[in-house]
Amino acid sequence: MAEIRRLPDEVVARIAAGEVVVRAANALKELIENSLDAGSRSIIIKCERGGLDLIRVEDDGSGIRKECLPIVCERFTTSKLTTFDDLRNMRTFGFRGEALSALSQVSKVSIKTKTKDEICAFEASYIEGQLVGTVKPSSGLNGTLIIATELFYNWPARLNGFKNIAEENSRIADAITRFAVLRPDVSFSFCRGDDRKNFRTKGDGDRRAVIAALLGSHLTKDMLEFTLNDSALNFSLECALTRPTSAATSTAVNAKKLRGKTFFLFINNRIVLCNALRHAVDSVFAAHAVISPFTYMSIQIDVTCIDVNVHPTKESVIFLNEDLIIECIKEKLNMLVKDSLNISPALSSA
Ligand code: ADP
Ligand code: MG
Repeated sequence: MAEIRRLPDEVVARIAAGEVVVRAANALKELIENSLDAGSRSIIIKCERGGLDLIRVEDDGSGIRKECLPIVCERFTTSKLTTFDDLRNMRTFGFRGEALSALSQVSKVSIKTKTKDEICAFEASYIEGQLVGTVKPSSGLNGTLIIATELFYNWPARLNGFKNIAEENSRIADAITRFAVLRPDVSFSFCRGDDRKNFRTKGDGDRRAVIAALLGSHLTKDMLEFTLNDSALNFSLECALTRPTSAATSTAVNAKKLRGKTFFLFINNRIVLCNALRHAVDSVFAAHAVISPFTYMSIQIDVTCIDVNVHPTKESVIFLNEDLIIECIKEKLNMLVKDSLNISPALSSA
């Protein structure tokens, strides 16, 4: 048997970083979450070559205190969580203090930031979690600018795996679109670097306008909406979907064909995946042989009933009574779709 040895700290840190930052879109998601946690109203994003060359996120949030800059990219440094028990009541996106550290393990990171209490901004650069040189004064407005370049420069196997830049671009656009729909009160601006697919949302709180602008106005012309409030199961739901239209022409209904095209799910204002819920929604469409090109669901669950710390990229959550909650949503959606099929679109929008 080979000897068991302790891995060096830098190897541990890089392996862990690769789980948080799997690809550019994960890194960008973390940066946007930080900007939102900082109370930003405007987030300006630029990515080049699918984020592999450059990810740049500029916000007008609270800024980072100068004295925190030396450690901000070290592992497990956070201003959001203090005790393990705080995890039971997380209202911020971040809590583990891992994102900036992970990003600086796999790319070259620089930060420029200014809090409203400082008279100038400060900037610093990081490699592998550590400050390079010193924190320097600089000019800049209130808020934070984070730039990550050369993603996976020190991880050739990972870098070489990204053959399809269009795929990375589309994941990035999808992530920003989801945040923009989640937070219509925040202005998101996205520039892809090649002057294509740029967009900007107003930040005026109009969610329908964001959906129409980013995903297509045909999705919001005729929408079905409903809310649910279940005090026994301790959850509430806000749902909007493009009126489903008949999709099956043949008698054999292929459930796969009838999948909802775009499913935007938010649980406690987090962008999450929940396959069980997605299948439940798809099964409702399949049962009626209809398809909806867009479904938005925002679920609020009592914070004490949800565990947000179950995945390195925080893409899934565990919540109490999951089966019952999904069943309840499915039933209501089923009724709504059934009713909508009995009412002509012209009558329903009158
Ligand atoms: P977490 O978000 O889990 O706390 P991060 O590594 O993402 O960990 O960030 C570390 C800390 O850096 C945050 O807790 C926060 O205090 C600060 N920070 C990061 N990004 C920003 C930002 N855009 N604006 C203000 N503070 C930020
Ligand atoms: Mg964070």
